[in-house]
Amino acid sequence: MDHASVTRRYQFAASHRLHSPLLSEEENWRVFGKCNNPNGHGHNYVLLVTVEGTIDPQTGRVTDVETLDRIVTEAVVDRFDHRDLNHDPEFSSRVTTGENLVRMIWDLLVKRIPAGQLEKVGLVETRDNYFEYSGDLV
Ligand SMILES: [Zn+2]
Repeated sequence: MDHASVTRRYQFAASHRLHSPLLSEEENWRVFGKCNNPNGHGHNYVLLVTVEGTIDPQTGRVTDVETLDRIVTEAVVDRFDHRDLNHDPEFSSRVTTGENLVRMIWDLLVKRIPAGQLEKVGLVETRDNYFEYSGDLV
């Protein structure tokens, strides 16, 4: 098989507060603990974007990495870096969890991959927290 994948690594810093409008104050505190603190807190997120495809016989590559970098920077890094995620319109009705964030990043990128296809989006939030999304398994 002449398939392979390439993973690029990006970083952005953002703040958030885990709070669900569907839960009471007490329930929010019970579910999210100190992450529900009204003052919010920040993370240095590490984003891993994996593109899978056929190795081009001329270039030896599966995608155009420079174009991928530009798209991820425009669509994701510039949007979130040094922002409060709770103020992003996409999060007006969703909790700013890693699960929702990694799925949203997938949606922002999946139709814009220059060559090959998006295989996986990974997001490191803290030393002990990693989130991953590979599309809906339908
Ligand atoms: Zn957090």
